Amino acid sequence: MADGGAMLVVAIDGPAGSGKSTVARRLAETLGLEYLDTGAMYRAVTFAVLARGVEPDNHDVVAELAEASKIELAADGTVLVDGVDATTEIRSAEVSRCVSEVANNQRVRRELVSQQREWARLRGGGVLEGRDIGSVVYPDADLKVYLTANAEVRARRRAMETIEVSEESVARDLARRDAYDSQRENDPLRQADDAVTVDTSHMTIDEVVAHLAGLVPPGSGQVEQSGQ
Ligand code: C5P
Repeated sequence: MADGGAMLVVAIDGPAGSGKSTVARRLAETLGLEYLDTGAMYRAVTFAVLARGVEPDNHDVVAELAEASKIELAADGTVLVDGVDATTEIRSAEVSRCVSEVANNQRVRRELVSQQREWARLRGGGVLEGRDIGSVVYPDADLKVYLTANAEVRARRRAMETIEVSEESVARDLARRDAYDSQRENDPLRQADDAVTVDTSHMTIDEVVAHLAGLVPPGSGQVEQSGQ
């Protein structure tokens, strides 16, 4: 799509384990769009930081790494960091423990937000999921959704999709990250005022996807690329 044209953007935010990734992927398929897991990008930078033995709170070095690293997210979920396949490693307990600190680095956020906008611009839109999509990355998204679920359901879902062993340790990690992500200084997790909240605790994936597809406003695709 040419610069300055309109594009369809769906923003999905919410805490870990709310079903964002699965729902965003399926909704993108339904709408004929591509999907971007922005959490995987923060995890990829964290992987690069840990692989080099850098302390996550070493702000300048972490920011330089974020700016220099090449992160590639394939449609099948494969994540390459500087050409190295880190698909499994970005979900490790160590990366999960350190990612929120890396994500609170303003320069890291500036770099990744710019890459996320470029990703959507090149595709004429897409479904983006994370913590700050509706509030920072695309405040003018055609549809803004805040997905949530109760803590027990979220821990159970995350335990099934990570390489962590115990559900209790996943639950502890989620509670710690939720608190940190909501209270951090830079672009904290928060619900955009005009986002639609969907509690997925007692809904199937199919139900959530159908519900969201029905919320895409008719005639949408009005996000102006030139303004981002
Ligand atoms: O979505 P996921 O749980 O994999 O995200 C990992 C971490 O990345 C989050 O806990 C949060 O600290 C950070 N993140 C963020 N902004 C986003 C997406 C993720 O700060 N848009």
